[in-house]
Amino acid sequence: MPELPEVETVSQGLQRHALGRRILAVEVRHPGVIIGSPEQFSAEVEGRAIVSVQRKGKALALELSAQNQPPRYLLVRLGMTGQFTVSARQAPLEPHTHVRLSLGEREELRFRDVRRFGRLRSCTPEELEAAFARLGPDAQQVTEEQFLGAMRARRGAIKSWLMNQQLLAGLGNIYADESLFVARIHPLAQPGRVSAHQARRLFRAVRKVLDHAVKLQGTSFRDYVDIQGRPGNYKPRLRVYQRTGEPCRRCGRPIRRLVIAGRSSHFCPHCQPRPSHFPLDKRPAL
Ligand SMILES: [Zn+2]
Repeated sequence: MPELPEVETVSQGLQRHALGRRILAVEVRHPGVIIGSPEQFSAEVEGRAIVSVQRKGKALALELSAQNQPPRYLLVRLGMTGQFTVSARQAPLEPHTHVRLSLGEREELRFRDVRRFGRLRSCTPEELEAAFARLGPDAQQVTEEQFLGAMRARRGAIKSWLMNQQLLAGLGNIYADESLFVARIHPLAQPGRVSAHQARRLFRAVRKVLDHAVKLQGTSFRDYVDIQGRPGNYKPRLRVYQRTGEPCRRCGRPIRRLVIAGRSSHFCPHCQPRPSHFPLDKRPAL
């Protein structure tokens, strides 16, 4: 569930609280969350200092440096319910804490994940580059030209297109629904068939929704917390996501839910009319 704004919030928290600090010891309590051998993971990460934090889409990478050695990266994917926090070493361990990275006598980084879809991986610069190359442009960094280009000739539901990480990295169910509402586009519209005007509106909507959500430290339903264990503040600002039956904030009519590719989509049928209601000749090609 953590999407770009939540992962960005974790990234900013790590920059404030973990940058420059050394990982002194590693404890893997559940090897299933480590990609590769846990022993090798520990050996590669231990003793290194965190010198930068990078993010692409929902993927987070901590650059780890050691004297006279090439840099390594700790690649973190929070998955559905992953939490990455800085905790006092004395604080009681919560259930589902799978990895502890000691930062000294007093503090440690903890990776906790109830559903265990999240993963930690130690990689070389080349491996990180390859992992990032599999993702489309970051949804907060993408240019209008790249965005419009990626929509061109695409079929299928625009909702699924927005969530395809190989085309655009960072959006999941929450911010895809919110962006489509702001852009007034029906979730079943085809990316390649919306008007150029709508496409540009969607580009601006994605940027606006993400920037605002980052400012409010993301959205928390159950599991997501920031690096200090605090929930995000964007939930009261949600316009459609999980508001089925509640009045649309723009027109007052009830928000509806529709299942697209197995995922719930929330939208206002009045503000986001079905694309088939438009005569074909009034839909200029992109
Ligand atoms: Zn409405």
